[in-house]
Amino acid sequence: MFRAMVPRAAPRSLLRPVGGAQSSIRPSAFYVLDRSRRGYATEAEEKDLVVIGGGVAGYVAAIKAGQAGLKVTCIEKRGALGGTCLNVGCIPSKSLLNNSHMYHSILHDTKNRGIDVGDVKLNLAQMMKAKETSVSGLTKGIEFLFKKNNVEYIKGTGAFTDEHTIAVNLLDGGETSVKGKNIIIATGSEATPFPGLTIDEEKIITSTGAIALQKVPKKMVVIGGGIIGLEMGSVWSRLGSEVTVVEFLGQIGGPGMDNEIAKLTQKLLTKQGMKFKLNTKVMGGDDSGETVKINVEAAKGGKEELLDADVVLVAIGRRPYTAGLNFEKIGLEADDKGRLVIDQEFRTKIPHIRVIGDCTFGPMLAHKAEEEGVAVAEFITKGYGHVNYGAIPSVMYSHPEVAWVGQNEQELKAADVKYKSGSFPFSANSRAKTNLDTEGIVKFLADAETDRILGVHIVGPNAGEMIAEATLALEYGASCEDVARTSHAHPTLSEAFKEAAMATYDKAIHY
Ligand SMILES: Cc1cc2nc3c(=O)[nH]c(=O)nc-3n(C[C@H](O)[C@H](O)[C@H](O)COP(=O)(O)OP(=O)(O)OC[C@H]3O[C@@H](n4cnc5c(N)ncnc54)[C@H](O)[C@@H]3O)c2cc1C
Repeated sequence: MFRAMVPRAAPRSLLRPVGGAQSSIRPSAFYVLDRSRRGYATEAEEKDLVVIGGGVAGYVAAIKAGQAGLKVTCIEKRGALGGTCLNVGCIPSKSLLNNSHMYHSILHDTKNRGIDVGDVKLNLAQMMKAKETSVSGLTKGIEFLFKKNNVEYIKGTGAFTDEHTIAVNLLDGGETSVKGKNIIIATGSEATPFPGLTIDEEKIITSTGAIALQKVPKKMVVIGGGIIGLEMGSVWSRLGSEVTVVEFLGQIGGPGMDNEIAKLTQKLLTKQGMKFKLNTKVMGGDDSGETVKINVEAAKGGKEELLDADVVLVAIGRRPYTAGLNFEKIGLEADDKGRLVIDQEFRTKIPHIRVIGDCTFGPMLAHKAEEEGVAVAEFITKGYGHVNYGAIPSVMYSHPEVAWVGQNEQELKAADVKYKSGSFPFSANSRAKTNLDTEGIVKFLADAETDRILGVHIVGPNAGEMIAEATLALEYGASCEDVARTSHAHPTLSEAFKEAAMATYDKAIHY
């Protein structure tokens, strides 16, 4: 695997002279490292903190620790900072979602607004370029923040050699090693493969292929009706693909989405042209022909059906990524789902090694990873930190958007909690009416006795922004009455939020 490391103080035998033996230059300036080896000036010293993985979890922890004055090194193997989120996740998918929505709106939603448009054409290559511009601007921005906060950035793959030492296989050749008093593992996640289907990122793709297709497939089958599958399905459906989503469960959106909201969302996406096969399992596929044949049958068993697709998107979830890290060698443990095991302070059983983000417990979300990045740095520098896992919002960036925070109705029922519910439709909101964008509702769930908010679920325009208010309310333990008695500007979509709180605590005015 790894060739010999450059020792922390490189011995003379590894160095070759420059400038001739008679040079009067002092030896330290007179020698350069051998061609195959590259050293870092800092490798001789032990860092306060070494972070493995420069994704959202890792880079945020590195910056926060750098701000507190720690000597920090961050190792990232991708060649760009920002991890899955910036490079192949949140950011590129949202760029495509935004621009495909604009394209779709211009095609289908201009006439009644008094806008006559001419010939509308898709320039997919330019849409991909716009996505890449957003991505590269943001990843370079993090490199700048590293410099600003004195975080050393090493481009390479890290692996444990002992409890304090990370061997790094450098991206541009050679190796080095870094020692850390504290080490954070933030190596993220990868798409879960579907047994029997070989991912080639062209015909059978993960989300990474779905953000980089070079032409619009005529037919696309999406395996998995969770957020990533529905977002990417929305993009290609808007651009002209015939998209069929196959979902094993009886509802879309994954287990966090409220049943009522999921049903409404499915109705709205169906209206936009997407097809759904719920309670359906994929039995296997054949990609030997020009198109891919996918065998499906009812989840409870039944007649088989053959689906035909130019492209199949496998979106059945993500799993922790720790390959090649050598964590077993130093005695760290992963559970049966591959998540590295930690305590409340993100510590493994080796207390100076902590784990954050997608490669450990909790929802695989960028803002959860970011919260943990701040908290873990605070645990190291101050001895305390804060993440409220009960108030982490989820957003699906379809149109309309779907967003929620806290508990949903099915969870409250299962936990036998006495709750009340109130909702308000965007069709009764003045701003939504003005914008001709009235689909969806805001729904509150609150404790039946105390009125304390337990969950907020929205499908509607700008739901992803609106959920921040619900998250703040939940974080502060607000009641529906607190929200209902707070003035909201008119005319705004957020008035629907206030009215839904009113409907839960008392009665809405405008519905
Ligand atoms: C298509 C898609 C869309 C998404 N959209 C959203 C969204 O809208 N909102 C949201 O909140 N979340 C979204 N997510 C999830 C989000 O991207 C992740 O939750 C987030 O990136 C997790 O951050 P992380 O730092 O834990 O891991 P990652 O971002 O995966 O970063 C881990 C990094 O570690 C590096 N690494 C791994 N092993 C090593 C090693 N041995 N040495 C050095 N480096 C290593 C990897 O190269 C990677 O860059 C989306 C994900 C996908 C796939």
